Amino acid sequence: MDFKGRLYERLERYAKVDTQSDDRSQTFPSTKKQLTLLKMLSAELKAIGAKKVKLDKYGYVTAEIPATVKGKKPVIGFLAHVDTAPDASGTGVKPQLHKAWKGGDIVISRRHGVILNVKNCPELASCRGEDIVTASGDTLLGADDKAGIAIIMTAAEHLLKHPEIPHGVLKIGFTPDEEVGQGVKYFNVKAFGADCAYTFDGDVEGAVEEETFNADAVKIVVHGKSVHPGTAKGAMANAARIAADIVTAWPVSMVPETTTARQGFIMFSDITAGVEKAEVEGIAREHDLKKLKAMERRLEAIVAAARRKYPLAKIELSFREQYRNMKGMIAKRPEVMRRLLAAVRKAGVKPHIKPVRGGTDGSRLSFMGLPTPNVFTGGYNYHGRYEWVSLDGMNKSAEVLLNLAREWAE
Ligand SMILES: [Zn+2]
Repeated sequence: MDFKGRLYERLERYAKVDTQSDDRSQTFPSTKKQLTLLKMLSAELKAIGAKKVKLDKYGYVTAEIPATVKGKKPVIGFLAHVDTAPDASGTGVKPQLHKAWKGGDIVISRRHGVILNVKNCPELASCRGEDIVTASGDTLLGADDKAGIAIIMTAAEHLLKHPEIPHGVLKIGFTPDEEVGQGVKYFNVKAFGADCAYTFDGDVEGAVEEETFNADAVKIVVHGKSVHPGTAKGAMANAARIAADIVTAWPVSMVPETTTARQGFIMFSDITAGVEKAEVEGIAREHDLKKLKAMERRLEAIVAAARRKYPLAKIELSFREQYRNMKGMIAKRPEVMRRLLAAVRKAGVKPHIKPVRGGTDGSRLSFMGLPTPNVFTGGYNYHGRYEWVSLDGMNKSAEVLLNLAREWAE
């Protein structure tokens, strides 16, 4: 089936709406402008004939595609997020379509020197002959996750036009603020009413994800002792120097710049320091919870050594849970992944399961009782000016959704 025309029309239209989220905001959604797209989507769902379309006070858009078969079947949800990452501008996005890419340079912007090729993005190699969409050099594209929205919307439209396709009740959910880690904070899983769900928020064709990091926030506070530097011998505890000491004592083999695949890390990202007081904030990430705890004990040992070395200072260390690896939750319902893998294969795509080096809305949803793996949308280089998505990959993703609908009705 060829949905590429519809998919591009939608992606282009959604990409032009600025929906950047803001991690410093205290409101929900974090930015008002996300509501522009959420309102558009709610109107569009009504226009294509979806039922129970609702835009709630948090900005969540939900809708239903009624069952076409009799008898009780599991209710399946499909989710995507409207916001784009704060890392790059999302204002004035101008999508460009590079048709039937032959394998050479894709010039995103000659003026800005933004040129995409297999050398700077090996993931592109498998997309020869495909239609590639990029932005124009000033902004991200926002295929993360407007490709996911276009895929869900286009597949929903197809299902509503073709009631002969057998499926049970299907639910649709569009959410704000995924990129700032708050996406499903207020999402009402019970009211959504699905037995399991799939986020369409993955990357290259074939990628499916059932595993995320276990994530804790790290905070170190050093209370020093300020004394005139001229008379400081044996009397001063310089919080700035002590904090630096702790940070540099952390092994270089366990930081983001040196780790990949299943290797965990601690990253110290924000340091404010003076003689009186220093604060270090960071994050700890590991797929294996035991290894996460082991890393934290290692940091505790470093802090304990600093306490002995600097008895005049008071040093506090704390960890705060952010999210947990969803794999354990998804594994409790093996058919959720089994049917997904079957749906991917039926679309003629070889699935590859890979651990996410991050979190997804699915991690939180899975712990809220809604097992939610993540499905590819066909793009890569998210959150920046080199972002791209393949229309052919999006088309395959839409086929996966249709296959999932059928699979679960069997
Ligand atoms: Zn995303």
